[in-house]
Amino acid sequence: MGGSPVSDYWEFIANDAQTLHMIGCIVLFDNKTEEPAKKAEQLREFLFHVNMVVQMTGGKPYTRELFEEVKKMKLHNDSLESEAESKIRELKDSLEKVQRETEELTVKHHSYICYKCQRHVSSHEDTISTKFQSKKGKAFLFAHVRNVVVGTNEEKHLTTSLHTIDDIYRVDCNEVLDWKYEQAVEPSQKYKEGKFVLELCKIVKDNR
Ligand SMILES: [Zn+2]
Repeated sequence: MGGSPVSDYWEFIANDAQTLHMIGCIVLFDNKTEEPAKKAEQLREFLFHVNMVVQMTGGKPYTRELFEEVKKMKLHNDSLESEAESKIRELKDSLEKVQRETEELTVKHHSYICYKCQRHVSSHEDTISTKFQSKKGKAFLFAHVRNVVVGTNEEKHLTTSLHTIDDIYRVDCNEVLDWKYEQAVEPSQKYKEGKFVLELCKIVKDNR
């Protein structure tokens, strides 16, 4: 700005200097100067900024109307964007729904077989919970299982509370699948009574 120290310009503001606001820049004028050289320099600088604004706005000086126009364009763009976003969200939702339905359909028709002898153990309709934890890892809780022998009672402190459980064996291959809940002490655990916990590593999903 004219090669003068910045502090001079701050003085101009304090001395009621004229300020012109344009896009992102302020041109400061010392309207009290009598020096022709300084006046010429100020005029040159002013024209430079006007030119810059004209270039930036494609030939039009920057006006209130132009500002409103730009604002409207931006608002329009924003609404187009959010419209597109909600369309994409809708599509994603319906895709997820179809995927879920397909999954459920597949799951509904599969049964579980013994990993060792490949014979039927239980089916998806008999699943009570898929979020069980057994000694060796993930397990499912089933309402019914087929082709098993129930072993002798054993009292055990499981992670949840005290239960009486029986080991269960496969009739055909003698594999221990896990256990059957005979009795639960805690009322909140009663729903497990008479149900079977099968380790996931012992059963295989069969989609046939
Ligand atoms: Zn088996």
